[in-house]
Amino acid sequence: MNTPASTVSRWEVRDRVALLTIDNPPVNALSQAVRIALFDAIAAISADESVDALVIACAGRTFIAGADLREFGKPATEPFLTQVVDAIEASAKPVVAAIHGSALGGGLEVAMACHYRIAAPKAQFGLPEVKLGLMPGARGTQHLPRLIGADEALPMIAFGNSIGADKALSLGLIDRIAGEDLVADAIAFARSIADKPVPRRRDRNAALTSPTLFEDFPAANARKFRGLDAPPAIVEAVRAAVELPFEEGAKREREVFLKLREGPQTLALRHLFFAEREAAKVPGLDGVDARPIATVGVIGAGTMGTGIAINFLIAGLPVTLMEANPEALERGAATIAKTLADNAKSGRMTQAAADTAQALLSRTLIIDDLGSVDLVIEAAFETMEVKTAIFSALGKVAKPNAILATNTSYLDVDAIAAASGRPADVIGLHFFSPANIMKLLEIVRGRATADDVLATGLALAKRIRKTPVVSGNAYGFIGNRLLAVRRREAEAMLAEGVSPYAIDAAIEAFGFPMGPFRIGDLAGLDLGWSAETSTGATIRERLCEAGRRGQKTGAGFYDYDEKRRPSPSPQAIEIVERFAAEKGATQREVTADAIVQRLLWPMVAEGALILREGIAQRLSDIDVVWTTGYGWPAWTGGPMHYGKTIGFRTIADALESMGDYPTDALRELADEKP
Ligand code: NAD
Repeated sequence: MNTPASTVSRWEVRDRVALLTIDNPPVNALSQAVRIALFDAIAAISADESVDALVIACAGRTFIAGADLREFGKPATEPFLTQVVDAIEASAKPVVAAIHGSALGGGLEVAMACHYRIAAPKAQFGLPEVKLGLMPGARGTQHLPRLIGADEALPMIAFGNSIGADKALSLGLIDRIAGEDLVADAIAFARSIADKPVPRRRDRNAALTSPTLFEDFPAANARKFRGLDAPPAIVEAVRAAVELPFEEGAKREREVFLKLREGPQTLALRHLFFAEREAAKVPGLDGVDARPIATVGVIGAGTMGTGIAINFLIAGLPVTLMEANPEALERGAATIAKTLADNAKSGRMTQAAADTAQALLSRTLIIDDLGSVDLVIEAAFETMEVKTAIFSALGKVAKPNAILATNTSYLDVDAIAAASGRPADVIGLHFFSPANIMKLLEIVRGRATADDVLATGLALAKRIRKTPVVSGNAYGFIGNRLLAVRRREAEAMLAEGVSPYAIDAAIEAFGFPMGPFRIGDLAGLDLGWSAETSTGATIRERLCEAGRRGQKTGAGFYDYDEKRRPSPSPQAIEIVERFAAEKGATQREVTADAIVQRLLWPMVAEGALILREGIAQRLSDIDVVWTTGYGWPAWTGGPMHYGKTIGFRTIADALESMGDYPTDALRELADEKP
């Protein structure tokens, strides 16, 4: 008997059924060796008269979980995955995939090329390529719609989300769910169908229930898909599965897939994929144990405190919410209850999980009640007086080894730490609004922050499913420091006679969900403003003086209707134009490109400074901050990846011709070897 020998697979025959077990730790990725093993297995069963069928299974914790990321970006090697899946599909003897763990990406494409699929009850199935700016490229867009219908296949491929075994069975993606012994069941199943004719899926096109699916689906998701190349390509490929014979559909899939693979977006998205993993690492923290955190206290039940509390409640940690103001405490607790109830209603979590989370909340007006918690996060007013008073109290009240965190946006974490009298225990945990939704967590390492406190911050981020980025302690940390640059440039352009609407439109066309002036309206133009002290020196003060304090007052740079939809405002325009005229500027039109360069290129230069000053550990951390926390379009890779794409030197030259910008650090980056 011809047994294909391989370093990544095992081969045996039971009851005239061959069993190929892929064993390529850690996740049985589709390396070249694995592709060869699969290819040879098909050749082996076809040549071997003592074998009637083949089962493909995997050792370890999962079925083939996807492509081998180490082979990404390198020249493809034979056998290509398309050749492997076609060979499996064309086999005259039936092939059964036995799936446990996850069948993802190319792994699911292999499974779908098989004639039957049997899965462990906890198995997961998905085609997540879109998350890296790609799409299935080995017949996945042709097989999946033929198995489960285009209406179900299109969202599954375009969102890249996984489904479980029950759903897969009900959709027809798998043929059955195995009992305790997946492989034994798969062999018995293969035996039972071995003598039947092999089913052929190519003979028919994919089913379509909603005739307008290919128009309705992109329209309904226009916001989500804005700017992205992969979703329209996926729509085209799935449409081909409905309208064209298999071979032609496969050809179409290949064409659009190759265009994506060679385009800039996948490079940017892969950069971010690795950047996010990298950002959670801090040199020198290996082997440092995190402190155990079983209970949490949150100070301040406002916008941030309630959102922060929800994270921990959902993660199963009891939270004591502490407030100075009884009404604010009531309101905050009500917000938490409503958010959890809404989560249950919308299906984001089960009612039981929402009830469990709710039961973990307790509240108090007395800071001494935080004496037993392992971690306190302060989210009170943003003034140094309030924060130092709180930390000086916490220094006495909190138990030894408790971690004391501040959610401050701009204030000096070292000064806050000093007030506690135990600065080693103090750290910044900077959440973003809405804190229960936004992924970014800036972790601010103070001068005295203990290593195990930092390690605990990183471990906590994982527990509450945030993306952590470590920042040094400096004004605005990483994110808000760059934000200040963009805001400065945007407001300078206004004073030079450029319309705020043109500026927002250019930034939105670049890919941000909102331009800087819409953001200003949303956050409130009156942050830190009061009528008594207003000098009218800035455009924001002028608008506030006119009662235009932002969205909450129905008016800011824009007018807002009852549904909070913005429209241009003649009154705001008048205020803006008068302001510009006083500075000697007349209204002028500038191109979207000029606006993008003026607002975003100085941010790239500032990012270079942030790195040089050691505020960010690495350039890619800055990209993670702005793509996960500030709406920078991920498909451009973040500010620094984008800057690199344009060329650091090109940007430095342009900035020097535009005005007085610090470009030294940028030039140093440009001179570095890649
Ligand atoms: P907020 O005004 O909505 O809430 C602050 C709450 O703290 C109020 O309910 C107030 O009663 C309470 N409080 C004030 N002093 C207190 C004290 N001594 N003890 C207990 N409670 C006290 O403010 P917010 O927007 O939630 O911001 C809170 C903190 O988070 C600030 O430091 C802010 O800079 C920071 N932050 C805000 C955002 C945002 O987008 N709003 C984002 C990141 C960080």
